[in-house]
Amino acid sequence: MTSDQKQQINLLLGSSKHILILSHHNPDGDAIGSSLALYNYLLIKGCNPQVIVPNDFPSFLSWMPGQDKIIVYKRHKEKAEKIIKQADLTFCLDFNAIVRLDKLSEPVSQMKTVKIMIDHHPQPACEFDFAFSDTNASSTSELIYDFIEGLGDKDVINKTIAECIYVGIMTDTGSFSYSCNSEHLYLIIAQLFKLGIDGQYIHRLIYDTYSEEHLRLLGYSLSEKLIVKAEYSTAYIYLTRTDLLRFKFKIGDTEGLVNYALSIRGINLAVLFMEKEGAIRLSLRSKGNFSVNDFARKHFSGGGHQNAAGGDSFLSMNETIELFESLLPTYKDQLAHSTTE
Ligand code: 5GP
Ligand code: MN
Repeated sequence: MTSDQKQQINLLLGSSKHILILSHHNPDGDAIGSSLALYNYLLIKGCNPQVIVPNDFPSFLSWMPGQDKIIVYKRHKEKAEKIIKQADLTFCLDFNAIVRLDKLSEPVSQMKTVKIMIDHHPQPACEFDFAFSDTNASSTSELIYDFIEGLGDKDVINKTIAECIYVGIMTDTGSFSYSCNSEHLYLIIAQLFKLGIDGQYIHRLIYDTYSEEHLRLLGYSLSEKLIVKAEYSTAYIYLTRTDLLRFKFKIGDTEGLVNYALSIRGINLAVLFMEKEGAIRLSLRSKGNFSVNDFARKHFSGGGHQNAAGGDSFLSMNETIELFESLLPTYKDQLAHSTTE
């Protein structure tokens, strides 16, 4: 952050009565972690922040400090729209294009407030007045730490804010297994521990609170619904509405599932296809230099990072899989050489 930006943002924070914090559709640990870190920081600064997300977040995040104050647009439209109209400053966290807000994009695109984007995805849209975008960062939560420090408020970061930042970093790096080859990141982590966070306890709260159905859905997905296309270095899992109903699916139950498909030796592309209301949702992961961001943008009106992206298909499950399989021969060589193992 330049000293000019620091001055402008401090002025904006001082003069804004209602500050809105937004994060993306299907909010994950980083979306909620970064939003609540900023929310708790702004509370301490005497501001009046409000977090709105398009739809529900997973229940494994429902212990986080301030989560009970988050407004879910899908369930509280009127309340959210009133807050959106009142807002005089908007933060956009963990997304870089308004369309990522899904149904919330409509009221948000009509807003006239200054918009500050803080995000780590590639190819940001030009829809923001300030853009703190760093694709090398592990997570938006890491960038929130930098943002607060940049404003000269490192000392304001307390244990509560530290916990939120830690959740975002831990979940977006797969518990420190990718996007984390960074000295800067671990220096931040050291500061969070200095503030008294309990990393082991937080890990348990996030990863050891599965329901029985969640675990059985995992077992079923791996034993019955995993297709391995070794000749294309690809594996995928597909879950229909019937599968999801059978295991009483709740948001968050398939979080991380696609990574199991990617964990097979020689597999460089993994996809989870899930039947949702009116569309097939794709979750894509890759190893090495094969860009699922490019692949999802090109074929499935989606996007994300090089190694983790999402997309949608408006065909049936069978047609979607057929289309996907028909694309694989074109990418065969790229997929085979994506990693050097
Ligand atoms: P997931 O598979 O966990 O839903 O998403 C993986 C990554 O891709 C996340 O960083 C997420 O924000 C991003 N992502 C997921 N879906 C989309 C999409 O439809 N468009 C874009 N641009 N990014 C997405
Ligand atoms: Mn993120």
